[in-house]
Amino acid sequence: MSKIIAIFNQAGGVAKSTLAMNLGYHLQDFGQKVALVDIDPQASLTLFCGLEPFDLKQTIYESLLLDRPLPIHSLESMKCDLIPSNINLSGAEIELVSADLRDFRLRDTLESIQERYDFILIDCPPSLGILSYISLVAATHILVPIATQYKAWMGTELLLRTVKRVQARANKQLKLAGFVPILYAKSNSQDVRALQAITEYLGQVGHIFAPIPRATAFADSVEEHLPLALYQSRHPAVKPLKAIADYCLKNL
Ligand code: ADP
Repeated sequence: MSKIIAIFNQAGGVAKSTLAMNLGYHLQDFGQKVALVDIDPQASLTLFCGLEPFDLKQTIYESLLLDRPLPIHSLESMKCDLIPSNINLSGAEIELVSADLRDFRLRDTLESIQERYDFILIDCPPSLGILSYISLVAATHILVPIATQYKAWMGTELLLRTVKRVQARANKQLKLAGFVPILYAKSNSQDVRALQAITEYLGQVGHIFAPIPRATAFADSVEEHLPLALYQSRHPAVKPLKAIADYCLKNL
């Protein structure tokens, strides 16, 4: 059975798509078969991976709402597969409200490809809406990127309540893989304090990964549609990203 990791935080701009892309790359580099699933209507992951969202005729939307087969794109440089999204998915939030068995739509859709992959990474939208909910229902694990900024960890209270709700009802197997402190500038004293607070408060709830530094190389690498390790293999952020993949491989 594949491990299905939902990369989830209701905050936007906390590097969910960036983390999905880079974690996917490192997992495949460790010999794993990986599929990335974009379930964010903003389609950043789809764009980062080099597909033009507006040009796509088939996305996760058609599979979720119209029962079409999942559109699987092979990413040559990344050696992973991608199931893309586009803006059509924003309508799904409303359409899913009245859909049969809506909570299980993504879980059932992914069942058809589970045999093919060791890891399926779901890039969730920045909300606690239905698309995030069905992602948590489909997932075996949840990974939470969290910015090392003033009280950013406070939003996790609501996030963890949502996770508990899913665990109590639709997905008892769901486990927390951990928190990834992100956008960390060690020269900034506020970031250092925030990292301490994240470690203190959230360390009691789950594993805290080594922080991913703030670096413009991330934006540059996605412009080239490459994970950081293929763009600048010696960049200091490569090591903590690779360590997350290693942890997932050994512990999930
Ligand atoms: P989300 O999916 O949570 O909305 P993204 O992955 O799209 O976030 O990232 C938002 C922006 O931040 C992008 O422009 C991305 O290139 C940039 N970014 C991601 N990680 C980092 C980082 N560690 N340092 C600096 N910029 C980053």
